[in-house]
Amino acid sequence: MKDDCIFCKIAAGEIPAATLYEDDDFRVILDLGPASRGHALILPKEHYADISEISEETAGKVLPLAKKMCAAMKAALGCAGINLVQNNGEAAGQTVRHFHMHIIPRYENGPRIVAWEPGDLSDDDKIQIVEAVRAQIQG
Ligand code: AMP
Ligand code: ZN
Repeated sequence: MKDDCIFCKIAAGEIPAATLYEDDDFRVILDLGPASRGHALILPKEHYADISEISEETAGKVLPLAKKMCAAMKAALGCAGINLVQNNGEAAGQTVRHFHMHIIPRYENGPRIVAWEPGDLSDDDKIQIVEAVRAQIQG
């Protein structure tokens, strides 16, 4: 646990939050500034700043929990779809440096959120990107 981290304190129950689910590893809370009705956050109880720090073990539990939460929230809230969003780093819009996954319910005819204008991908850039990333993964 990191002393100055608000999500550590919330996950540990030291600061109250509207909790939808809790187990040994995670607390799932309602976001205080929701993008839509039911917007929730999956918080691991251990402190990891972002995906570059999270343990493989915890990472492996996040998606099964998200799946469980999505099913429950869809049934409970009647949303038509759900976005899973997970920001890493300031440049990506991360404001709280404790790994978290957003679960954002979407409703029929709701506002356009989690959207971007499609850009272009040139053939040259496509080749460069593929080569650079594959080289990193292959080591
Ligand atoms: P991000 O921009 O991905 O770091 O998301 C941080 C999210 O945490 C935002 O959607 C905030 O509304 C939410 N948030 C910040 N403080 C709290 C809090 N004390 N309780 C619940 N949600 C919070
Ligand atoms: Zn933390």
